[in-house]
Amino acid sequence: MKSLFHVSGVALLALAMAGSAGAQSSPYPTADVHKLYQDLLGKINAIPLYDNHSHPGFADDTDVDAMAAPPDESSVLRLSDDNPEFVTAAKALFGYPYDDFKPEHAKWLADRKNAAKKSGSSAYFDQILDKLNVETCLANRAFMAPYLDTKRFQWVFFGDSFFYPFDNRDQTSSTPDMGVYIPLQEKMLARYKKQMGVEALPADLTGYEAFVRNTLADNQKRGGVAIKYEAAYFRSLYFSDPPRERAEAIYAKYHSGGVPSADDYRIFQDYIFRVMVDQAGKLKLPMHFHTAVGIGDYFSLRQGHVLNLENVLRDPRYHNTTFVLVHGGWPYEKEAALLTAVKNVYLDTSFQSELLYPSQFKDVLKQLLTLFPDKMMYGSDAFPFSDALGAEESFWLAAHTTRTALAGALAELVSERAITQEKAVELARLYLHDNAKKLYGNTGGAK
Ligand SMILES: [Zn+2]
Repeated sequence: MKSLFHVSGVALLALAMAGSAGAQSSPYPTADVHKLYQDLLGKINAIPLYDNHSHPGFADDTDVDAMAAPPDESSVLRLSDDNPEFVTAAKALFGYPYDDFKPEHAKWLADRKNAAKKSGSSAYFDQILDKLNVETCLANRAFMAPYLDTKRFQWVFFGDSFFYPFDNRDQTSSTPDMGVYIPLQEKMLARYKKQMGVEALPADLTGYEAFVRNTLADNQKRGGVAIKYEAAYFRSLYFSDPPRERAEAIYAKYHSGGVPSADDYRIFQDYIFRVMVDQAGKLKLPMHFHTAVGIGDYFSLRQGHVLNLENVLRDPRYHNTTFVLVHGGWPYEKEAALLTAVKNVYLDTSFQSELLYPSQFKDVLKQLLTLFPDKMMYGSDAFPFSDALGAEESFWLAAHTTRTALAGALAELVSERAITQEKAVELARLYLHDNAKKLYGNTGGAK
């Protein structure tokens, strides 16, 4: 805007004359929008996907995530078992011969998946990606599985467990959901300690910081391309900036026992979080954050709001750290998109691509792609829901929703004369593949 106001009158006139009347944008699409949609959909289907966020794996593999579903989870309409789109997905991927998921029918699908699991071959999930034209897929898992091909699936490991080194009984008993989540964080921390040969918690904060930094570096050497935080499920995404002495005193007080007050625990977490932001910057390891509504009765929309991260994202000390707003902040996706104006902040649209129908997701994409199109990335959030409805069908649903919604959004923009068809295809490539390829192609992780 600033530059426009500073253009001289003569230059403005020249600009106005350079644009023909045909380039004037309109609030309504013209009659050619459906044909444009079909043309663009064909081109979009040919673009390989780079999936920024997923949980690939079989249904009984507890490493697909570092947390588990809370005891009493409500399902949104589209993700309930009886969504007929899952039948379409199973037909497309496996030639599923039935039109419903009655238990005797669903068994056909579960048997197939069990056979694939027994074979132990990494070809199975590669073939799923091939069928959906997915080139590369980030696998956000506690640990990788031997049945995933690391050339196609790249590991995104978890960082939340470092927040919970002390006696967690108050945290665990705070809600029924935390009763599920926190013991799993303790288990994750124990696995990291074993990995690093750390028997007991280090005697002082310096030792704990070294343990945290070394684990991040070691996970990167083991193929990790990013570090993920599900912190929004456990605490506020607002991280204060406490002095090291405060954290040091808290660590000294509780590392060998005693239950920290909620305030002490939070201050310690805020400090250790900033150690991880610093280390992630040094390692060139992008940080992923769950930024969207979450499951369970106790997920706080207010604490999980993406704007809580603003002080960290805009902090000049962290300009070398890359931040990725996973799930694009939904339902606060505009706020998330505006935060990607910061040069080291990106977002993905995973989960939205499963939760929202194409007509709804179309409007989201139409907005996002006209803001900072070099910062938006495709994502699925594919997850194994059950023996029959696996990550496979979930991959299909996200890819289908995204391609059709994207074709619709771009067709409208072209038809309304906002952008050219050529520009539309360029935006599609950036979002579906190129932005992510550029981002992870530059990370220091082993490939
Ligand atoms: Zn996820």
